[in-house]
Amino acid sequence: MESKKDKAKTKQMHIIKRSGEEMPFDISKIRNAIRKASQVVDIKDALSEARINLIADEVAGVCAGRDRAMTVEEIQDVVETKIMEMGAHEIAKRYITYRYKQSLLRQANTTDKQILSLIECNNEDVKQENSNKNPTINSVQRDYMAGEVSKDVSARLLLPPDIVQAHRDGLIHFHDMDYYAQHMHNCDLVNLEDMLQNGTVISGTMIEKPKSFSTACNIATQIIAQVASNQYGGQSISLTHLAPFVDVSRQAISKELAEECALSGVEMDGESFSKIVEKRVRKEIQKGVQTIQYQVVTLMTTNGQAPFVTVYMYLGEAKSEAERHDLALVIEEVLKERILGVKNEKGVYVTPAFPKLIYVLEEQNIREDSPYWYLTELAAKCTAKRMVPDYISEKKMREYKLSKGEKPGEGDTYTCMGCRSFLTPDRSGNGYGNIARAGNYEPGRPKYYGRFNQGVVTINLVDVALSSEGNEERFWKLLEERCELCHRALRCRHERLKGTLSDAAPILWQYGALARLDKGEKIDPLLYGGYSTISLGYAGLWECVFSVTGRKLTEPEGEKFGLAVMQKLNEFTAKWKAAEDIDYSLYGTPLESTTYKFAKCLQKRFGIIKGVTDKNYITNSYHIHVTEPIDAFKKLEIEAKFQKLSPGGAISYVEVPNMQDNIPAVLSIMRYIYDNIMYAELNTKSDYCQVCGFDGEIQIVKDESGKLIWKCPKCGNTDEAKLNVARRTCGYIGSQFWNQGRTQEIKERVLHVS
Ligand SMILES: [Zn+2]
Repeated sequence: MESKKDKAKTKQMHIIKRSGEEMPFDISKIRNAIRKASQVVDIKDALSEARINLIADEVAGVCAGRDRAMTVEEIQDVVETKIMEMGAHEIAKRYITYRYKQSLLRQANTTDKQILSLIECNNEDVKQENSNKNPTINSVQRDYMAGEVSKDVSARLLLPPDIVQAHRDGLIHFHDMDYYAQHMHNCDLVNLEDMLQNGTVISGTMIEKPKSFSTACNIATQIIAQVASNQYGGQSISLTHLAPFVDVSRQAISKELAEECALSGVEMDGESFSKIVEKRVRKEIQKGVQTIQYQVVTLMTTNGQAPFVTVYMYLGEAKSEAERHDLALVIEEVLKERILGVKNEKGVYVTPAFPKLIYVLEEQNIREDSPYWYLTELAAKCTAKRMVPDYISEKKMREYKLSKGEKPGEGDTYTCMGCRSFLTPDRSGNGYGNIARAGNYEPGRPKYYGRFNQGVVTINLVDVALSSEGNEERFWKLLEERCELCHRALRCRHERLKGTLSDAAPILWQYGALARLDKGEKIDPLLYGGYSTISLGYAGLWECVFSVTGRKLTEPEGEKFGLAVMQKLNEFTAKWKAAEDIDYSLYGTPLESTTYKFAKCLQKRFGIIKGVTDKNYITNSYHIHVTEPIDAFKKLEIEAKFQKLSPGGAISYVEVPNMQDNIPAVLSIMRYIYDNIMYAELNTKSDYCQVCGFDGEIQIVKDESGKLIWKCPKCGNTDEAKLNVARRTCGYIGSQFWNQGRTQEIKERVLHVS
């Protein structure tokens, strides 16, 4: 019998079944399980009905104390503990045996259940896994089904059991297991210049050098789609590679106008002639830029999502003054189009998630008297309205990224591959002797376009800290052990790519995006010598430091320990690199759904520890905790020290309110970035409610069951399908909503500018 009290306590709670489906919490199921275990022991060991109820009540109490739905596994752990606490060891033993038998039975067919639940759209985990994939759509479901099979095959057949176990327990995260079964890599810098200038092949069709800017843009989007379908991470393209086609169009337009004049007998002076030409050139640029913006957001790749693409805007890349002038025209148009936004289904302009934009701050655009200052002002407006562009400081980058023979201050400036992973500086000094056989190879010039990242494995630093139980000596020993585990897991990634034939992805390996290898040729040389990188990711430095030292990362002792951890991680990657000639690099992982997984695993292994495991998320990379009150400049100043030690990639952010009426403040943050940190972004807000037309910040509130939901502050609408919300969660903007852990993190973010 269920008492009134039970009902009050349990009616609003939910649990997550093994299949991923969310169900209402039912206390009678817990009573039944305990009763069953009690029925099979000697009568002297059996529990009275009152004690069974008491245990069940306590379990319900623990569940109610959590801010999120617990999984069946977690609840069973609590039941076990509570039976033990009652002193009923015989019953606990039966209960554990029963669980073990059930888990053996289940091992046979969990994949089947996962697949069926995702087709029926009731798999909560999948629903909230990737903030840019909508799992109710057929094509997305097909990708997820393939992902489930890949994960299953990887876990049972391809990966060593200890790595799979460490991944499941949340000690490490083996990223993208849903793509591991295939010979695919992570992210890259597309060599668009080679493809456009020297031709490429798309789906068996020869594509020659385009004869206009808009055609070049069109081909670029085709290339982006092809590349995105043949890897699972992000990609970047540079506007510099499109800029030469502005003049191609200009020449064609001049010729055409001259013909028109001749035909109509109009005599035009030089000035009027070039005015008309330039007006038409601008129109051509607009046409091309709109093509890229609309194609990229509407394209659906075979991965069931828009391509994760970053567009790089760097005046310093232009080969001549004339080209720089044209590049500036293109950058201006890209920023203007983005400020406008893209139309949602109601025809209202909203913030698009893609492409991500990166703008390089440099001497030619950083001061009010710099020639391209007007572009920087436009970028600031764009950031205030649409969250992008993000900013790279040429000044800081040239201090850090030194290719062979370069001194600090003379280094290279280049974009990340997608959202944040950075290539290592060209250490060959000769563009790797053109092992990729690129058509635009220049001996002696550092090479970045055409290079790529092999994959990522992330260490959970919080788990290392808690497992060492406050003993610092043990911490360092355990850190090395866990990193070795990551190292072996990364070797698996590397081995999986070794022997891959160029035929697996012709666009990448044969037709110029990364290389121009022959048919049937192996990609192996590109995996060594620094041509590509492989990433040791890390997460939760904040919680790790707090757990070991009792100090915050923002306090001197905390910072010192945090920097020591980063140094150590860099020592490991340097050692592996020297031994194997593979460019291991330390990487501030953008934990998407993994932040939630890690937090759950930590709570399961160590319980709730204040300041360490008491949230449903852990902090990304070296970031200062989202709830920590700190101003934007101080935050960037402290984080810059850590970013310097994260050469494989990392981005710092500052959380700001609506800044559309305060552009000077945005510009002052940008100038601070230029002088102090290599790569940073501003998190602004620009949401929309389709029910009432509210344009501002949509709020996160708790519903009656304690679940976090999004709510329009004006009309109270909570239907996610009728809200356009864009938030940055990992370097990319997400717009398909997030899991409970990430939502809590977003809710708790404090502003760094007031
Ligand atoms: Zn509304």
